[in-house]
Amino acid sequence: MTDDPRMENRDGREEMVRTQIVSRGISDEGVLAAMRKVPRELLVRTEDYRCAFYDGPLSIGCGQTISQPYIVAYMTELLGLGSGDRVLEIGTGSGYQTAILAELAAAVFTVEIIPELSERARGALAAMGYSNIEFRTGDGRDGWPEEAPFDAIIVTAAPEYMPPAMKEQLADGGRLVIPVGSSAQYIHRIVRRGDDFEDDGLIAVRFVPLTGGAIE
Ligand code: SAH
Repeated sequence: MTDDPRMENRDGREEMVRTQIVSRGISDEGVLAAMRKVPRELLVRTEDYRCAFYDGPLSIGCGQTISQPYIVAYMTELLGLGSGDRVLEIGTGSGYQTAILAELAAAVFTVEIIPELSERARGALAAMGYSNIEFRTGDGRDGWPEEAPFDAIIVTAAPEYMPPAMKEQLADGGRLVIPVGSSAQYIHRIVRRGDDFEDDGLIAVRFVPLTGGAIE
C-alpha cells in the first residue's frame, strides 16, 4: 500500500507529539513512543485523514468522536501502565486509545456499546497486527466482571456519577481514570489501596456521555 495517500501523514505524528503533547507537559517516554508509533491517520474516517492530527476531537460517525490527542496522552500517563498490566477500556470508539494501551500493557479488554464502531475498530486493529486486545460489544457500565480485577481501567465516555462496578473491578494498587459529570465534567484518577480509594479530581474536559441502551 505504498501509494496509499494516507501515508503522506507519517511525519504528522512526530509533529503532533512535539507540538501538542510534549509542549503541554507529558513526559512519560512510553506514552510518547506509543503516540509516535500508532497510526492515528488510519483510525480516523478515511475522508478525514488530512486532519488526523488536528488538536481536538473529530467525528467518527454514529454521533461519537475520537478523542483529542492530548487527552489520550494525559489519561494514558495517569494510568501509569507497566508492561505486565491488564487493562480495561470502556468506549472503544475508533480504537485509537485501545492501540495506545496495547502498546504499553500486556492485555487490553475493550467494550463498546455501538456494534458498528466495535467491528470497525476490531478490523482496523487486527490489520495493524495487534493480538493482545479482546473486544466486546455491550454496555460497559458493568465493566467486564469475568476478566476482573484489572491493574488499570480507562473510561472514555462520561457518566454523570461514578459507576460502582469500575472501582470494584480494580486490583489492589490499580488505577481508574474516568471523566465524571454532565454539564461540567472532570477527569478523576482513583487509586485502590485495599478497601480504600484515593480520588483526585483533575482537569475539566468534554466527553460524549456514557450511555445505556440506544444512542439518539
Ligand atoms: N477512546 C475513543 C473515544 C470514543 S468516544 C476514541 O478516542 O476513539 C466514546 C465511546 O464510548 C463512543 O464510541 C461511545 O459509543 C462509547 N460508549 C458510550 N456509552 C457506552 C457504554 N455504556 N458502554 C460502552 N461504550 C460506550
